[in-house]
Amino acid sequence: MHIINPATEEVLATVAEGDAPDIDAAVKAAREAFENGPWPRIRPHQRTEYLLKIAELVQQHAEELAHVITLDNGKPISEARNEVARAAEVFIFYAGWVTKIFGETNPSDPSLFNYTLCEPLGVCGQIIPWNGPLSMVAWKVAPALACGNTVVLKPAEQTPLPALAFGQLTLKAGLPDGVVNIVTGFGPTAGAAIARHSDVDNVAFTGSTSVGKEILHAAAGNLKHVSLELGGKSPNIIFDDANIELAVTGSATGIFRNQGQVCCAGSRIFVQQKTYDEFAERLTQAASSIRLGDPLEPRTTMGPLVSGEQYERVLGYLKVGKQEGASVRAGGERGPQSRGYFVRPTVFADVKGSMRIAREEIFGPVASLIPFQDETDAVLQANDTIYGLAAAVWTRDINRAHALARSLKAGTVWINCYGILDPISSFGGYKQSGFGRELGKHSIELYTQAKSVFIKF
Ligand code: ADP
Repeated sequence: MHIINPATEEVLATVAEGDAPDIDAAVKAAREAFENGPWPRIRPHQRTEYLLKIAELVQQHAEELAHVITLDNGKPISEARNEVARAAEVFIFYAGWVTKIFGETNPSDPSLFNYTLCEPLGVCGQIIPWNGPLSMVAWKVAPALACGNTVVLKPAEQTPLPALAFGQLTLKAGLPDGVVNIVTGFGPTAGAAIARHSDVDNVAFTGSTSVGKEILHAAAGNLKHVSLELGGKSPNIIFDDANIELAVTGSATGIFRNQGQVCCAGSRIFVQQKTYDEFAERLTQAASSIRLGDPLEPRTTMGPLVSGEQYERVLGYLKVGKQEGASVRAGGERGPQSRGYFVRPTVFADVKGSMRIAREEIFGPVASLIPFQDETDAVLQANDTIYGLAAAVWTRDINRAHALARSLKAGTVWINCYGILDPISSFGGYKQSGFGRELGKHSIELYTQAKSVFIKF
């Protein structure tokens, strides 16, 4: 497979195109490592050390990894550096968990000693997208390893290089053979082979809702454990009493970071009527001041979209928005560059909740501004979506903040901030944004299963 640099459209590298037989070989290696290898059997303290070693190697190779991410994915180098730092943090966080995966002793019949073990699942299939090509590796691999599983991971076909660079680091860390297996390839071939494989015990998937549904079907064959982190169309709600300056800056980050290619991007911005015009003007200014260009240049704040396909898709939505009658306040077209998949950060005003740009996930730097009247109207409009990944509220009213945190149907709610993620806190979706929670203790639950043991005196 040719890997394209989205900033130049040139071939960056060529990687192997894995298919079902390669997945099969990887699963065999992972199974052997799980059943007969040392990984699930070593002292937990030792597994902690391995995870810390991986984190240390990621930190030591931070600059190299950040460059690989930017070259492959197109995000600005500052964002790539941040992604590397956060990925290391996830390994450190789960290194600490290894020795805290407790079972239970249960007050059963006094003639019995009953306890519950928390055991690993076995071979974990992991399929990840291209928008966080290293962070998604960390979110999936770190907790699975912490629990004593072995993994077969397939990176997205657009951005396999950060995962491959990470694989090299696991070799350097001296992980036993077969514990981490990375197979590059396309979704319908290599990815589907993981989802349907009868010797894979779980599949953790992050990607589109439509593919998530296919994975769920394919996983039914051997009743794999499934976790799905899917699309979103997250509401970002600005009340008249908000600190408008902070709300504008936070909302701009919420929709424009990573070129808007973020599953929890705040793409539907609801603004209370009195503030609407001022907010629209200020967000337009913020969008216009973004530096779109070479993602390796340190001052760049927006790079190209990840691929030609994504570029066409986003340009298609810009056309749809105009046809539907939304007014373009900023952007609305491709970037000025002669090469590369650059799209200008776009602000659409006069958007109605029924328009396609307000209902479908665009996965690009496109903000839709929608007015609302009061709290009830805001919640109704915000929840009027098939998705439920994240939501944000900007207000100075603490009662309102808490009330909305409860009434918004989303896996994460930010109040007076946007996009904060922390390995300590769960992440995942309501409704068609998926099920299963990653990060925090929730990933430990995803990658373990309980076994109850009864001993008769
Ligand atoms: P996007 O639309 O953002 O590219 P996808 O859901 O298509 O997201 O891709 C996310 C991941 O899922 C990628 O690694 C991709 O290769 C994989 N994938 C795509 N189609 C399938 C499939 N039918 N079965 C398994 N994995 C798939």
